[in-house]
Amino acid sequence: MNIAIIGGGACGLVAAYQLKKQRPSLNVTVFEKNPTVGKKILMSGNSHGNLSNTHVNPNAYNHPEFVAPALAFDSSSLRNLASELGVDTFVDEEGRIYPFSNSANSFLDALRLANRELGVVETTNYEVFSLTKGKNGQWLINGTEPFDRVVIATGSSAGYYLKRSTINLPKMGQGLQHVLTPLYPSLAPIGVQENIRSLTGLRISCGAAIEIDGVRYYQTSGEIQFKDDALSGIAIFELSSFLARKMATGNVGYANVELDLFPDVSEDDLLVQLKNRHAHFPQRDGVAFFVGMFAKMIGWYLATRLNLQQIHPETLGEIAHLLKHLRFAVDLTYVATNNQVVCGGVRLDQVHPETLESRVAQGLYFGGEVLDVDGLCGGYNLHFAFASGVLIAQSILRGVSE
Ligand SMILES: Cc1cc2nc3c(=O)[nH]c(=O)nc-3n(C[C@H](O)[C@H](O)[C@H](O)COP(=O)(O)OP(=O)(O)OC[C@H]3O[C@@H](n4cnc5c(N)ncnc54)[C@H](O)[C@@H]3O)c2cc1C
Repeated sequence: MNIAIIGGGACGLVAAYQLKKQRPSLNVTVFEKNPTVGKKILMSGNSHGNLSNTHVNPNAYNHPEFVAPALAFDSSSLRNLASELGVDTFVDEEGRIYPFSNSANSFLDALRLANRELGVVETTNYEVFSLTKGKNGQWLINGTEPFDRVVIATGSSAGYYLKRSTINLPKMGQGLQHVLTPLYPSLAPIGVQENIRSLTGLRISCGAAIEIDGVRYYQTSGEIQFKDDALSGIAIFELSSFLARKMATGNVGYANVELDLFPDVSEDDLLVQLKNRHAHFPQRDGVAFFVGMFAKMIGWYLATRLNLQQIHPETLGEIAHLLKHLRFAVDLTYVATNNQVVCGGVRLDQVHPETLESRVAQGLYFGGEVLDVDGLCGGYNLHFAFASGVLIAQSILRGVSE
């Protein structure tokens, strides 16, 4: 029995490993268009390899019910898999799981080596551009190579700095086509309408929330990085998931990002602190009021935004409010090109969640980011790619005799 895996990424490589480990008699070939496999595993977690997260659960994804069967392979299973490959892992304070080496390449090397030892064939520099059915019902890759089962694990355009998000589906023959949902970059910076150039390069830790058409969808805390015309950083990437899912529907009127510069202090308590400060330094007006409270750039930005000259007792309430609710209007025309995932993909009603086999064509499986599945920032996307690879392997093995 011949099995083709299109795409040598997280999903494809793990599917190949599971198939060959459990049924050595299968012929498993991974087709990869790049010169090397696993490019995005290497990019994850700033190259440290953020493989998964101990908080993985269906609600961390856009379609909880669909991902639930795959997530039977949970974060402990992932750590066991890594250990089986000879890779120890550790968990950081946010639950993110990394190889103990703190290096993504140690995981990829171990997975590739195991695949090679098991006899998985890795065919690189080979782009699959067409998938059709031959006369005897076998799948034909690029019109020639015949296979009994095909796994599509071709991922997305995220990480390639493209202006338009794409999902890499090979061209399918008559009657085999799958429909893609609208696509939008996710886990990405969020463009803002305010002029924030004076803050470019600044990083702060604070609370952050996203509000879309008046509804607050998510709030978190963490690092924010200011760019010329956008907000970035892990906390913003988290918010961008919610924005992307709404933007993909094409129905967003307006959105705001709201920063809370003092997440651990109530607005009332902050006001008391500001009053004490004003009493201590009654002569300090305008930007001087903020000296020592923040990085200089922030103080200057706040004073400008408030048009702050003289501090009066009544302006202190306004300052306290701004520090707790520093709002930025989202620029809905902003195109993020350094996104980590693409929101949207193969429509989920065309795929069985329990097996990840297509409902359109038997013997065809979809896994990883090519599906309309996206997760939060912090290991959730790689986890789903690995977990879906495991589920596909189990499904194929169930239907194949020894
Ligand atoms: C910069 C960056 C950082 C990230 N950091 C994290 C992180 O820290 N944690 C996390 O969980 N996720 C992270 N992600 C997201 C995560 O890497 C992806 O969601 C995950 O790799 C998707 O796995 P996949 O197997 O579905 O696709 P991919 O890993 O993208 O693999 C798909 C493979 O298919 C190949 N391919 C595509 N089309 C064809 C074709 N027609 N023929 C042959 N081969 C083809 C591609 O070249 C690619 O190698 C990051 C992504 C990026 C870009």
